[in-house]
Amino acid sequence: MDYAATTPLDEKVFADMMPYFSEKYGNPSSIHSFGEDAQEGIIKARKIVADFFGAKDSEIIFTSGATEGNNAVIKGIVMSRKIWEACGGKPHIVVSDVEHDCVLESAKRVMKDGLAEVSFAPVGSDGRVSADDVQKLIQPNTVLVSVMYANNETGAIQPVQEIGRMITRENEAGNKKIYFHIDAAQAVNYLDCNADALGADLITISAHKIYGPKGVGALYARTGTPLAKFMDGGEQEFGLRAGTHNVPGIVGLGSAIAQLENYKEKNKEIGRLRDRLIDGILASVSRSALNGSRENRLPNNVNMRFEGAEGEAILIMLKDKGVAVSTGSACAAKSLSSSHVLKSMGLTDLDAHSSIRFSLGRQTAQEDIDYVISAVPGIIEKLRGVSGSFDHSTNLSQADEKGSKGEGSVFLDDDVIDRGGLPADLGCEKGRQVDESL
Ligand code: PLP
Repeated sequence: MDYAATTPLDEKVFADMMPYFSEKYGNPSSIHSFGEDAQEGIIKARKIVADFFGAKDSEIIFTSGATEGNNAVIKGIVMSRKIWEACGGKPHIVVSDVEHDCVLESAKRVMKDGLAEVSFAPVGSDGRVSADDVQKLIQPNTVLVSVMYANNETGAIQPVQEIGRMITRENEAGNKKIYFHIDAAQAVNYLDCNADALGADLITISAHKIYGPKGVGALYARTGTPLAKFMDGGEQEFGLRAGTHNVPGIVGLGSAIAQLENYKEKNKEIGRLRDRLIDGILASVSRSALNGSRENRLPNNVNMRFEGAEGEAILIMLKDKGVAVSTGSACAAKSLSSSHVLKSMGLTDLDAHSSIRFSLGRQTAQEDIDYVISAVPGIIEKLRGVSGSFDHSTNLSQADEKGSKGEGSVFLDDDVIDRGGLPADLGCEKGRQVDESL
């Protein structure tokens, strides 16, 4: 249950890619027929990706994934001569506090290198940014706002349409141009990515999050958006990104996008399984809580915290039972610091460290969900048994006594403590949730 980290390659995608490893192996920049065969694959994939964004083919730049796309956007905008000329000096950008590290680190890099001023937009306890908070950070020299579509750790869906409309109003009122970038890596499976509907100038995606191959992605850049060249060399990708194309990968990305349409029903089922998992755990594990908005949440994300139990330890015990989960972003899996996303939502270090993320996907079955629901209570009980921070006499953790409960949490009443095993109806009974405003 770690589909947010990556997804298995779809069989049809694999089949579509295969010829480009063998008989259609040509370099698409070559003029002979081998090159033309490869070029044909790229043209077809570019059209599929462009249609997905409601864009022109010339607005799609193939990359190695969302990390590259996001670096290219943040650095490419502030390194553009046109941007410096338009602001008459150092530009300013706004990114949200909960962006993926590849956005945050790129923003910090341009700030350190003196290429831009950066403001970080806060999130509420539900993990969501507000258009008002972003607007408050806009300055006369603001050239870019970057807010992700859906968070990779909490699945929180950001109000990107609202932010897009706010930016359009700002641009019209000030007769200026602030570009809007959306990192849609986690959203593509589930949400509409039409660039005009989102009010986006730049959108980044990654194939391996959508049952496509690793090492390939795309950047949508609206015509006229100034971007500095991000790979010097040849003239590939409209002169922005030099280097021989990853032809099988690009074909795979196109194919993965083409398959999305077939999974609309499956996605609804994934949403039902997500709810079953959330309700099942809340009903069977006392002092457990859902991190982030329940309502504005990707259908495949369940991020929960368990007082008195260490996330890493839960992960390892679940691994021993054959269940793959994560404590947050796969890219930060080896880092010991607590999640910047959960901390931004107001969680204490202790709460953030007691959190794990389950992420569901096309192969997740109800039996998998029920297996996890039956496995988690025993694991948490064991870990609480050895925890120094869990107050067993009151069944309150020390963290809770200090009032660290996040506002966006769904907590169970104490009377379901030690209910154990699978609850009869798996539904979280009404009235058991202290905070139902989510
Ligand atoms: N942005 C988000 C929201 C992600 O979830 C990820 C991957 O975890 C990335 C960017 C980086 O994507 P890639 O693995 O394609 O570099």
